[in-house]
Amino acid sequence: MSTINASGWKPEMGTGNADVGVPTTTGNRALMLEEALIFEIGSSSTCGVDLPPIPSHASRLGGLARTQAIGLPGLSEPETVRHYTRLSRQNYGIDLGFFPLGSCTMKHNPRLNEKIARMKGFADIHPLAPVSTVQGALAVIHQLADWLVKLTGMASVAMSPKAGAHGELCGILAIRAALQARGDAREVILVPDSAHGTNPATAAFAGYRVEGIPARDDGRVDTEALIAKLGPNVAGVMITNPNTCGLFERDLRIIADAVHAAGAFVYCDGANFNAIVGRVRPGDLGVDAMHINLHKTFSTPHGGGGPGSGPVVFSAALSPFAPLPFVEKRGDYFELIEEETAGDHHAASFGRMVAFHGQMGMFTRALSYIMSHGADGLRQVSGDAVLNANYILRSLEATLDAPFAHSGPCMHEALFSDDGMAEGFSTLDIAKGLIDEGFHPMTVYFPLVVHGAMLVEPTETESKAGIDQFIVALRQVAERAKAGDASLKSAPHFAPRRRLDETLAARKPVLVWTQPVLAVAAE
Ligand SMILES: *Cc1c(COP(=O)(O)O)cnc(C)c1O
Repeated sequence: MSTINASGWKPEMGTGNADVGVPTTTGNRALMLEEALIFEIGSSSTCGVDLPPIPSHASRLGGLARTQAIGLPGLSEPETVRHYTRLSRQNYGIDLGFFPLGSCTMKHNPRLNEKIARMKGFADIHPLAPVSTVQGALAVIHQLADWLVKLTGMASVAMSPKAGAHGELCGILAIRAALQARGDAREVILVPDSAHGTNPATAAFAGYRVEGIPARDDGRVDTEALIAKLGPNVAGVMITNPNTCGLFERDLRIIADAVHAAGAFVYCDGANFNAIVGRVRPGDLGVDAMHINLHKTFSTPHGGGGPGSGPVVFSAALSPFAPLPFVEKRGDYFELIEEETAGDHHAASFGRMVAFHGQMGMFTRALSYIMSHGADGLRQVSGDAVLNANYILRSLEATLDAPFAHSGPCMHEALFSDDGMAEGFSTLDIAKGLIDEGFHPMTVYFPLVVHGAMLVEPTETESKAGIDQFIVALRQVAERAKAGDASLKSAPHFAPRRRLDETLAARKPVLVWTQPVLAVAAE
């Protein structure tokens, strides 16, 4: 067992970046402090508070008793504060710098949102509070719902789903309920090969068989192939627009008409709505259901554990099957429509997605964002997001292979491949090299239809100077990968940890835990 000093440092940790200069005695690098796992520095005999001895008591667990200490590490209060503060300094977030994760829309979350979300009338309410006492909160949900319905050109919205994937499930369950209502048990959902993994997972989870649709050479869905697959067994199509190659699916209206003619429904994955908000209404393209990731398009913090929120908008055809609850305005009063209050009008609803009403904290932030931008501001958001992505695409297409650069302007994200790297160099090396340059890497190896994909989404909230610096860094790292610069293979060199063996970490995770600690005492 090695010795551990007050900051949890052990001698073997001191080599974190020994190859870039003089290793320090402590392992710390200036005021960036090295930090061990709490299991390595804590001790079960230390506690941040003084607790009274446990009074003697009779077990009510029928003889099931803890046979030994469970080994949870303890620290004093100042040690605890420092442990988590040090770890937090090793976290990367949108408030620190550029976060170009494609398909994630990592944009600045305006602080006004935070101020609004913390207002007592929103932050301190309980989901079971009487409806008459939370009229302001219900008004927020209702007003946000109204914006979402208008921005998408749809008939209704279910606010309760808690993230994009949860919204997908909500939409597919509504489609299933609509088909069941007409006694039509279809078994197949069509999903393009470029789709986000949650799409096929959702369809399978809802009991459907997934059939893939190939992409055309220009990166868009092969419309003819899709239409050829339609038939009496197809329940629906899940299509992402703009798609995960960063391209607008121009044929969506044609596809939707064919899908409807075949008696099926169109689910649109709306994760990329930021590229078209204020310009395109998915309802006009024949979409029947679409989730909106409030935490992507309408700011609200995400990444690093911020909660999501995935309201689902519905066409008139699917609206009767939407889940409860929702808010209805009756005169000046906001009514919460739940099972008891729904009446016959909502008899076809497929049920519920959540126990209560959804992510109130995200609703307040999203509405704050929407109202502070206004309709014209939202239109400018999508325009600027697309402009920034095209600037990146055109600035880097001479350095990096851009497989769909010939397909016209991209939408909100620029897609590159690892084609043209030196033998043995790939996307992973470029991503790790970017970390050394102080940039969170872009999305890598997604979408799967492009080899060694690099998906860069700048969003509208980055300055031109910031984007220019990223372009210079990515270009330089890519040139090193093309030249076969061996030092890139061991990047990152400057991060708190060097390149990790991700396969080993996934296959043989080291889970710090003790032996089973509960046992039934012998008779
Ligand atoms: C983010 C994303 C999802 C899933 O959304 P979550 O809110 O993370 O559940 C689905 N599809 C696409 C294209 C996405 O980018």
